Amino acid sequence: MTQPSASFYFPAPRTQSFCNQCGSKLARLVPPDDNRMRDVCENCGAVHYQNPRNVVGIVPMWKDDQVLLCRRAIEPRYNTWTLPAGFMELGETLGQGALREMAEEAGAQVEPGPLFTVISVPYAEQVHVYYLAKVTSDVLDPGPESLEARFFHLDDIPWDNLAFRTVTATLERYVADHKTGRFQIHEFDIAPRDHD
Ligand SMILES: [Zn+2]
Repeated sequence: MTQPSASFYFPAPRTQSFCNQCGSKLARLVPPDDNRMRDVCENCGAVHYQNPRNVVGIVPMWKDDQVLLCRRAIEPRYNTWTLPAGFMELGETLGQGALREMAEEAGAQVEPGPLFTVISVPYAEQVHVYYLAKVTSDVLDPGPESLEARFFHLDDIPWDNLAFRTVTATLERYVADHKTGRFQIHEFDIAPRDHD
């Protein structure tokens, strides 16, 4: 019998084999009054809906022309640079989640700002939401998910070594808006590409 690897992982796309209510094996079918295939338990009747996850993050602004980035200490994309962001937890608001991720990954003090990007990533089953925030102190205390946290001039952003396309897309819009001095809300989609 195969044992799961000792290190935990995050299956994507998500799959579910057994009912979390009664433990029976699940069937894949369209339930009555529905129009999509779902994981359904034919033993107890539970329908296991799956919906997109929210990723929340911050564009931490420093001294007018710098941003704070974190170098990832975890997979996926170990050792690449990212904006502080992560999966929203149950019971918190978007803004609370973004600030929590900021504290966990960079340990920076910030003054929360306006909504900046809302990005649908249907192939990854996610929606990413970024807020602007002003960093109020250069004292940083990155947590175990970050190898380091540091400030980058907008001219020196490590574009070739960013962790995720949502991070790149958010930083591109930040740099463009910084040039005009008018920060707007950007709502857009990211489609899959042939190779990643
Ligand atoms: Zn069941």
